[in-house]
Amino acid sequence: MLDAPGAALPAYDMLIGAEWRGAASGARTDTLDPFLQRPWATVPDAGPADVDAAVRAARSAFEGGWGSSTARSRAVLMRRLAALIARDAERLASIESRDNGKLVREMRGQWQYIPAWFEYYAGVAELVEGAVLPSDRPNFVVFTRKEPVGVVAAIAPWNSPGLLLCWKLAPAFAAGCTVVAKPSEHTPVSALELAKLVEEAGFPPGVFNVITGGPDAGRALVGHRGVDKVAFTGSTEVGRAIARACADNLTGVLLELGGKSPNIVFADADQEAAANGVIAGVFAASGQTCMAGSRLLVQREAMDDFVSRVAARARTIRMGDPADPETEMGPMATAGQHAKVEGMLRQALADGARFACGGLDDPGSPGGLFVPPTMVLDVRPDMEIAREEVFGPVLCVMPFDTEEDALRLANDTRFGLAAGVWTNDVRRAHRMANGLRAGTVWINAYRVVAYNAPFGGFGQSGLGRENGRAAVEEYLETKTVWIELSGTTRDPFTLG
Ligand code: NAD
Repeated sequence: MLDAPGAALPAYDMLIGAEWRGAASGARTDTLDPFLQRPWATVPDAGPADVDAAVRAARSAFEGGWGSSTARSRAVLMRRLAALIARDAERLASIESRDNGKLVREMRGQWQYIPAWFEYYAGVAELVEGAVLPSDRPNFVVFTRKEPVGVVAAIAPWNSPGLLLCWKLAPAFAAGCTVVAKPSEHTPVSALELAKLVEEAGFPPGVFNVITGGPDAGRALVGHRGVDKVAFTGSTEVGRAIARACADNLTGVLLELGGKSPNIVFADADQEAAANGVIAGVFAASGQTCMAGSRLLVQREAMDDFVSRVAARARTIRMGDPADPETEMGPMATAGQHAKVEGMLRQALADGARFACGGLDDPGSPGGLFVPPTMVLDVRPDMEIAREEVFGPVLCVMPFDTEEDALRLANDTRFGLAAGVWTNDVRRAHRMANGLRAGTVWINAYRVVAYNAPFGGFGQSGLGRENGRAAVEEYLETKTVWIELSGTTRDPFTLG
């Protein structure tokens, strides 16, 4: 999909209330195609005035009816939106791949699955219930109501821009909240395209607003007093800054952050299946996934064979044009990310590690923003490569002897997003699932998610959970109502 040389770039506007518009300042910014390494579209660069307008539009839609709308009416709109996304999945996937350089086939898989979130949460909307409480006072009826928190700021990263945004939108709409979305400055376009579909589905103006911009726009949004809840996916570092900013206004916050997830292979496992799972966990998506299984822990007796097996397959991974159906790995999404990954590989070498495949200056790499699939050996648990998130196709490998050893190494991290265990021993599988400190544990599988399965992190991998029925609670307040039945006058100086 090459543009004609000299052709004007497609220029997108933001959706604020009912209006598609540029930034108040007139500022625009290019969005880059990381494979071609050149701009392919332009978007507004929102400033504080635009953020303020978007939050006001969301507030006015919330108070103007959406916040008190029936679950049924919201569910109807959400199902319509699901159908429109399914209709346009292919187009949305190509746009997103253009923005982040990930495979069209991966983005297609995501957009084809996203309708399930809106369908599922359409159902959940109609299941939101308060409760009548058994009262210990004879003359009272006490019940709870679930009410939407109000205006949600949804801030997304670049790696799976649409999917991670919809993980927030679907439960927020189900709850009756309105949303101001801020996609990553590296991948702004799919959220704008999604906004067109939200309009087409018939959502009232202001229920969904999109502002495009970078960290400054994000800061203005998070710090805005009109925002009732911040739902964020991104790095642990930015998550911490957002939690601090939310503390100032006591705004609720949901954080889905980084990881350094272990993939643990026992000698008794099906080694071929485990090798495929390990590759899917870290090399697919070029490792640019929060749940990357970036620490491979292998039982010592199986270590050499297993490393050879994974390295042999890794060397054959086809890197290239993300739009080519034969391609298995695209480039890093940004030059900054590419430089960061290479810097961490250099540091690993300086710390005494070596590469089993890939690495720096690999002759198999197509150059540009590509990093070849890399396995790092001779890793000590205290090295940077074993502790920090790389967010690239880099797998550090460490041996273990016993199950206790494996658990200790796996849990030796400040993160706790996910973990994989490969074993044919069902008792061991359960013991490991119990012992791992991670929000998701896969047994003989890796990197599977679903709309109805809670996802989120222990430790510094986040706060709260997305997906699953309970995620709607993130966007609800509980109100308790006490009704006095006797009508008698009560003593003002006694409680109860
Ligand atoms: P990032 O933290 O740099 O940016 C994420 C978003 O926050 C962007 O939209 C950015 O513009 C905005 N932002 C940056 N600074 C901000 C600030 N001070 N206030 C408000 N907004 C701000 O993350 P990224 O580089 O886009 O994404 C990669 C990271 O996301 C990785 O660490 C990855 O692990 C994490 N991630 C987590 C999950 C999960 O579900 N746990 C999923 C995908 C990615």
